[in-house]
Parts: sequence; C-alpha cells; structure tokens
Amino acid sequence: MKEDLKRKYSFETITTHLVTSGFLYPSSEIYGGLSNTWDYGQLGTLVENHLRNVWRQHFVREKMNVYEIDPAIIMNPKVWKATGHVDNFHDPLVDCKHCHERFRADKLIKENKPELDVDGLTSKEMNDLIQSGEIKCPSCDSTSFTPIRQFQMMFKTFIGVTEDSSSEAYLRPETAQGLFVNFKNVQRTARAKLPFGICDIGKAFRNEITPGNFTFRTREFTQMEIEFFYKPSDENDAKYFDYWKQECLSFVEKVGLKPDYLRYRDHEPTELAFYSKGTTDIEYFFPSLGWGELMGIASRTNYDLSRHQNASSQDLTYLDPEDNTRYIPHVIEPSFGCDRLLLALFCDAYDEEEVGGEKRIVLRLDKKLAPYTAAILPLSNKLVDQAKDKLWSLLAKDFDVVFDQTGSIGKRYRREDAIGTPYCITYDFQSEEDDSVTVRERDSMEQVRIKISELNSYLKEQLTK
Ligand code: ATP
Repeated sequence: MKEDLKRKYSFETITTHLVTSGFLYPSSEIYGGLSNTWDYGQLGTLVENHLRNVWRQHFVREKMNVYEIDPAIIMNPKVWKATGHVDNFHDPLVDCKHCHERFRADKLIKENKPELDVDGLTSKEMNDLIQSGEIKCPSCDSTSFTPIRQFQMMFKTFIGVTEDSSSEAYLRPETAQGLFVNFKNVQRTARAKLPFGICDIGKAFRNEITPGNFTFRTREFTQMEIEFFYKPSDENDAKYFDYWKQECLSFVEKVGLKPDYLRYRDHEPTELAFYSKGTTDIEYFFPSLGWGELMGIASRTNYDLSRHQNASSQDLTYLDPEDNTRYIPHVIEPSFGCDRLLLALFCDAYDEEEVGGEKRIVLRLDKKLAPYTAAILPLSNKLVDQAKDKLWSLLAKDFDVVFDQTGSIGKRYRREDAIGTPYCITYDFQSEEDDSVTVRERDSMEQVRIKISELNSYLKEQLTK
C-alpha cells in the first residue's frame, strides 16, 4: 500500500551528501548565506542541464507541435493585473502572539484539524477559527494569534530611475504567462494549427513565507511549463487532459523515479478555480517529508487567453481553417518544477551498500542525467599524459567527462560512485600495448575491456539502453 511507504535514507543524509560533494551550496555562503537560497554547484548544474535536455527531448523534439520560446522575466505589469495576480496572489498569514512564529493560516488549520476541508473555507471563516481558541501554535501551544493578514507573493521592483507606482514591475511568479501572451506570435509565425503547444524553461520568483526543505520550496526556482492549446469542442471527452497526465507520468518514470513513490492526486472541486475543469498533481513520496507535489497538470479552459484579450484589447482568437469559425482555444498546462524534480531524482538515486567491508555511497542516477558520463582514470602517475592525449578530447566531444589522477584506483572508484558517474575508464600499462581500456560500470561494478577506437560508440549505446 502506497500510504505505508518507508524510505531507507533520511532527507538530511541525502541533502548533506549533495552539499558536501558539489551538487548544491548554500547561496552567498561566505556572507553567512541567505536563508533557504541555494546555488547549484558544478555537479548540480550538469545534472540540471541534462534534465532540461531530456525534458526538451521528450516534450518538444519528439512532438511535432510543441514550440519552445524564452520569454522575459520582467514583463509589462499589466500582464499580472489581467491574470489576477496583483489582486489575488496572496498567502494568508498569522503570527503566534506568544512565540512570534509566523504561519500560513491554511496550513496551521490543516495541522490542527486534519479532518477539515480547509480549501473550502473563506478567509473570514479561517480567521474565526484561528481566533476561536481551538487552534494551537505548533511551536509553543499558545492559542493566541494575530488576525490574518494577506501577504503579496510577487516580488516587486522598479524600472528606470524613479521608484514610484508608474515604474512598478514584478518578477514573474510563473513562466506560464509569457507563453499565453505569445500565443498569437507563435501561432502566426510557425503557421501552427490547433492543437499545438508552447513551452519554456525559466526562472520564476515567489516571495514564499514558508520556504524550506532544501530546494523543495524556495523563493526563486526553475519551471518547465507547457501550454497546450486545442479546440474548445475537444474539451468534452478530456482526451488531452488524460494524454498529458500520462505523458508527464511516463516522463518522470523515464528519468528514473520509482513508480512506488509516485501517485496522481486529483484536486477536490473546492480547490479548483471557478474556470478550471480539473487539476491533477503528480506527487512524490519524499524521504522524511512524505507525499509532496512534484508537478501539476491543469485544465484551464480559455481563462488566460480571454483575460489577456479583454485587458489588452487585442484579438487572441484562432481562425479555424477547417470550418472558418473563430474561437479562443482551451488549454492544458503541464507545469514542472525543475528543482523539485531534481530533488526527487537525487532522493531516489541515493544508496549505500557494503563492498569488501567498506561503505560505498552510490548515486544511481539515470545515465543520461549523471553529471559525468565517464571518468578517465590513469592507473599510474606515469600514464597521466598518455591518458589525457588518447582519451580526453576523444570523449569530451560527445560526453561530459572528468579526469581524476589522485589517490588509489579504489578511492577514485568510490568518489565517482558517490557522484553517480556511470562509467570509470582506466588507462593502464596494457593500454600502451593494445590500445584498450578497462570500463567499469557503476551499479554492477563489472569491468569490460574495450578498444579505445570503440569507446564512443560503446558509451553511446549504453546511454540509449
Ligand atoms: P505548492 O502548492 O507546492 O506551493 P503550487 O501548486 O503553487 O505549489 P504551481 O503554481 O502549480 O505550484 O507550480 C508548478 C510547479 O512549480 C510545482 O509543482 C512545483 O514543482 C514548482 N514550484 C512551485 N513553487 C515552488 C517553490 N516555491 N519552490 C520550488 N518549486 C516550486
């Protein structure tokens, strides 16, 4: 049963490993850091780049009708007025009057009364409940809270030299709106016919009041979003919604997440916005944290394009060449959080085992996602130059590779296992004679002898398995 899942390693064990080995660092660490802000290190950046490429491969390149664009982060502020973000993108906040800890009102109620449908409560009902004395502070047990205050989650900035309301702008809280406002541009220039999608990968910013759990919730994060537009009459049988749900699940399984730790969660009708025809999250069972949203697939009807059409007074309708009718397309939005997905992948990949009486940490990342495909290891210091000459540029033209010449070969294998390198290539004295190398595979630790001239095709073949 999925509810009783157990994880072998704690969240802390895994995240500590990520920080100590170069995947992520606390941001601006030499100045004491900035709370809940992380920098991807040299290894994390490689994995992130690989994940973006696999995402592109799956959702853009292999589809005939999905176009990737790269919209600006700071857009005309009218965009956020039109979408309702300026007026509604708030979190309800309360402070404990005794210990001064701050909570999100809905989360506080959920924690105290798990049986209650919090999403169905109005702000006033939440406030009444919190003031009723029935809700306890999780930190100090006090029942005394400030009234709910609404907290704007968009980061505000100013364009140009004057800092007044006429120069106000926002950092985008989601990448999706850059896709909607370009609907007409892409449709026209790509001569796209419905159904088709527009997608992007980029940073989004939210002034979260309860960030935390490493990169699960941060104030800046990368989203990989798709808006898939289709004819409104195709709404009836939910075929596109079901199609994208399946595509997203198969993607997260393809990049290596174990099906046991994945589930769909359909949003309750009370959680849905009035225009929404349904939202399904894919959730992941994180170590120590339990089930958490990984990504969401939302059926948003024609809400966003209609709002932009009204606010901009531009025609955002589509002229259907099949029957000459005009309409505003409906849309399905599969929205991935890149950082959360990476975190889940690291949690799934982390493993420890005993080999020859010693602990080996092995990061069983999918071979396409691992920071380096291969490590080049000269067996002796006497072979460093030859190993460089014969292997580095040969492999570096096709793969991310790393060169390691320090320590015993056993130590070097362990180092590579711990960062997930699927292949260790050892250049030894025999290589001088027969132009072959030993290739050791990370998971099985099995070794094969391969001709240097066949290395690239061997590795390429392994990556497509
Ligand atoms: P949550 O309920 O966790 O706040 P959300 O439903 O607001 O998430 P969406 O607006 O649907 O999130 O964003 C799509 C995806 O972006 C999420 O599934 C998640 O992976 C990612 N995401 C959203 N907010 C954050 C954040 N603060 N930090 C990291 N990733 C985030």
